[in-house]
Amino acid sequence: MRLIDADAIVKCFDPNTWQGEMMIAIVNGLSTIDPVKHGEWTTLQQACNGYGVMYYYHKECEVSGSEIHKRPFPYCPNCGAKMEGKS
Ligand SMILES: [Zn+2]
Repeated sequence: MRLIDADAIVKCFDPNTWQGEMMIAIVNGLSTIDPVKHGEWTTLQQACNGYGVMYYYHKECEVSGSEIHKRPFPYCPNCGAKMEGKS
């Protein structure tokens, strides 16, 4: 799948021609999806088991502020942000 800007596509067609009017109607009739949010887990607290191994995670989604208390997920379970950095 390739995400494109439907509003920009509509501007490419002349609404004063039947072809342009038809294409605008087709594009405007297509379903839309919410854009993917990107974020990162910010570490609030980390602990050590005494042997230099991190065993406890307490991280917060920078997008929604949702906190998790274990190994972070690739997506925030609260807001769905993809945790691969900002974009
Ligand atoms: Zn979130």
